[in-house]
Order: sequence, then structure tokens, then C-alpha cells
Amino acid sequence: MEIVFVASEMTPFAQTGGLADVLGSLPHEIAKQGHSVSVFLPKYRTVSEEKFSLEAAIPQLNVPLGSDIETGKLLCTRIGEVTVFFIDEPSLFSRDGLYGTPMGDFPDNDVRFVFFARSVLESLKRLKLRPDIIHCHDWQSGLVPVYLKTIYRSDPFFKGTKTIFTIHNLAYQGNFPPDSLSATGLTWEEFRYERLEFYGKISFLKGGLVYSDLVTTVSKRYAEEIQTREFGCGMEGVLANRKEDLFGIVNGIDTEEWDPAQDPALSQNFDANSLEKRAICKAELQKENRLVVDPKIPLFGFVGRLAEQKGIDILEPLLDDMVDEGWQLVLLGTGDGEYETLLRRTAEKYPKSIAVNLTFNTKFSKRVYGGVDIFLMTSQFEPCGLGQMYSLRYGAAPLAREVGGLADTVKEFNAATGEGNGFLFLEYSSKALFATMKHAISVFRDQKKWHRLIKNGMACDFSWAQSARQYIDIYKRAEKRSLKV
Ligand code: ADP
Repeated sequence: MEIVFVASEMTPFAQTGGLADVLGSLPHEIAKQGHSVSVFLPKYRTVSEEKFSLEAAIPQLNVPLGSDIETGKLLCTRIGEVTVFFIDEPSLFSRDGLYGTPMGDFPDNDVRFVFFARSVLESLKRLKLRPDIIHCHDWQSGLVPVYLKTIYRSDPFFKGTKTIFTIHNLAYQGNFPPDSLSATGLTWEEFRYERLEFYGKISFLKGGLVYSDLVTTVSKRYAEEIQTREFGCGMEGVLANRKEDLFGIVNGIDTEEWDPAQDPALSQNFDANSLEKRAICKAELQKENRLVVDPKIPLFGFVGRLAEQKGIDILEPLLDDMVDEGWQLVLLGTGDGEYETLLRRTAEKYPKSIAVNLTFNTKFSKRVYGGVDIFLMTSQFEPCGLGQMYSLRYGAAPLAREVGGLADTVKEFNAATGEGNGFLFLEYSSKALFATMKHAISVFRDQKKWHRLIKNGMACDFSWAQSARQYIDIYKRAEKRSLKV
């Protein structure tokens, strides 16, 4: 099959969250299984032409934008078997930040991602690259399925093309004022409840959900959750309508890039049979962060976006108690300015127990996964989550809220049977979290049990191969589908 991915992030080019990791791995896995694969991304400022050896693919693209024609360029490079194309229009994409600054979203995100979606389709035609499947990811690519079933509906070039839309996070919806419709080139026919209208706005995410042939999301549990009011972010009705076409496929991780036995970011490489070397990584992490160096002190870790979703609201009130208990925490994250200030202040108060690093630093994150005893995922909701899988592979026990992909990948440790790989709590409260931390520490104090738990975690297989096969099944299913909107 000819598969085209359309997304707004991909490692190593541009990343704000887990979407980039998925795009950094899944296309390669699909290619490995014998398909022809390309990816379309915006050319952000971080995508250096020299570093990534970009070449011109189309020197001038003419793309309809509202009643005007906007010009851009198409660049490309190759990573292994996968061709990566970049939509290049500096006035829209060459900025600090992908979607905004710490002060908020860019005000022209509607125009930016209208231009992106339209440019992808125009580029495919110019390249004569006729996809069997266009696999779109999150709201930034939501208009691609919409265009294929409206403006390009009778275009013979796309006659055999089917679309898949994957929800990585339903909370980000790309909702804009109705006036944005003029930039899209779509008619007011689309401003209807059954189509793009969403509480008086137009929603690019809803466009993807309504118009794609099949919809997937990144874990089975999240696929169920998003059909409920609690987790549906207002889209539960739309999703319930598409129940038969909605599938959950858990993300994998890149097990070569994330391998503690080879990772150069770690001071010592280790596997499940050399956990004494991991103990050295813990000591190094404590030292690097100026914490008291002591193997017996339980060391907690947190890596993630400092956003409401990630549960800082229930973790932050416990920091004093954690210090009182004699525990330590290394936290790595960027995001909401208020959380950053709050966390920085606590770290200043307890320099020997709490270390806070407010940068985006993948190497440092690997030392956290490979050094802490317990890795915290306190999320309100979590479509899949990658941190718990990285921590399992790097020998830390995840302590996670039992939602979404966390519920699908973390299994409660049972000290009597020796089964399980981590610790779970359900109630979204500091109280429930603290009780689970205490329980985890009681297991930690029994190093024999702890080693059993860590070995169980390190033996888990989160490689992409199986999930990639499930996506291929979905592509085949979409090929047989003909959705009428
Ligand atoms: P989300 O996509 O909601 O941000 P995920 O758990 O799916 O959450 O993925 C987050 C990814 O981003 C993980 O790979 C995590 O290690 C990485 N990450 C998040 N914040 C940072 C940071 N400050 N420095 C390095 N890596 C980070």
C-alpha cells in the first residue's frame, strides 16, 4: 500500500509531546512491513535545512487560501525507508514554538493549518503520489479528510484514497470562530452540528472525526473513555455516532532508541541482570541534581508537560509531605508558567530533596527514567502515555492513575504472587496518590520483592511491531469502506 502520514510533530524534527515519538517510530515500522511510506510536516524553524539535508521537491506550490492563492515550497529528506516532506512557508511556520508561546496560542493557527492541509493535498497531486491511505493525526491535520470529501470529492486523482484519523489527545480540538471558515474555502454548509460546527465554533478536530473513513485512538481504554461525558471533552456524541468505526491501538516505543543496555545518555548501561549498574545511575542522578546520595532514599521521578492534564494539581500539595517522609523527587518538565513558578519555589525550599529542571531535555529524561525508583504519572486523563513505558524499560516502577493507556500498560504489583509491574490509583486526589506512594515505598523497603517488580517491568514488550500490524489491518479495513457524510 501507499501510505501518507500527515502530522504536526515528528522526532527528530519537532516535538512538544508524545505525538512526535509516535511519528518518529510508526512510519518506519509500517515501511518495514513492506509498505511505501511518506510523512508530511510543516517546516518549523527547528527543522534545519543543513542538519537534515533537505532538498527541494517542488520549488513553488500554489495553494488556495480563502479567495487568494498563497505560495509555498515543498522540501524533502529521507530517513531510512521513509520520505519526509516539509511544507515550507516561513511567514506561517518559521517561528519560536510550534503552536504558540508560553503566553498562549498563535492567533493565526487556523490559517496555518488550513494552509498545511491544503498544501499536502496539492503537493500529492503535483508529485503524482497517489495514496491508498492518508493517515492523519490530531486537529492540525483534521481538514485533510474534510477536503477529500468536499472540495476534492470529484477529483479522480484521489478516487481510491481512504483516510484514517488518529486521536492522540481529544482535549486539543483546534476550535476557531466561525469566520475562520472563509480561510478554509469550505461553504457554510459545513457549519452544521453534523459536520464542523462545535458549540458555535468550527472545530478542525471534529472535521477529522466526522469525515475520515475510520477513527483510531492510542489505547483501548481511551477509546472507551472518550465515548463518555467525563472524558469526551464535548465530542462524546460525535464519537458515539462513530462507535463502529472507532478502534484503540496502543502506542509502542522505539526500543532501539530507548534501550538502557546501549543508551549513551546513561552513565552505566544495564539490563535486568545487572541492576547493580542501575544503582550507580541512581547515585549519579542524585549527585547531578545535588540531592543527598543514598541508595536507600526512595527517589521519585516525573517527566512531562506541566499542563493541567498531567495532575500537578494533586502532586504539588504533597511535596512537603514527601520531604517529611524523607523521600526525594526529580522533576523535568516545561509548560504552564504558574506551575513552573510553584515548582521552582519548592525546589529552592528543599534543595537536598527536590530537584526541578524546567527545560525540554531528552538526554536528561533518560537519566530520570534510568535512575529513579518510582516514576509518577498522575494524569487526570492519559490517552496512551509514553513515560510509563520508558520507565518500565529503564527499570523504574510506574505509579500511575488507572486511566487511558496507563490502565492498559501498568498492572498492579501483587506481592503475594510476584505478578505486576507497577502501582495504580483511581480517585483523582492527593489523598489517594499519597496512600499509593506509601504502599509503593513499603514494597521498595523489601528489596527482594522490589527486584521482582523491576524485572517484571523490564521484561514487558512495548515494541511497535504488533501495533503496526494492527494499523495495517485498519488500513485494509478502510480500503473496503465507503463513508457517506
Ligand atoms: P503527551 O503526549 O501528553 O505530552 P506522553 O507521555 O505521550 O505525553 O509523551 C510525552 C513525551 O515527551 C515523552 O517521550 C516524554 O519523555 C517527553 N517529554 C515531556 N516533557 C519533556 C521534557 N521536559 N524533557 C524531555 N522530554 C520530555
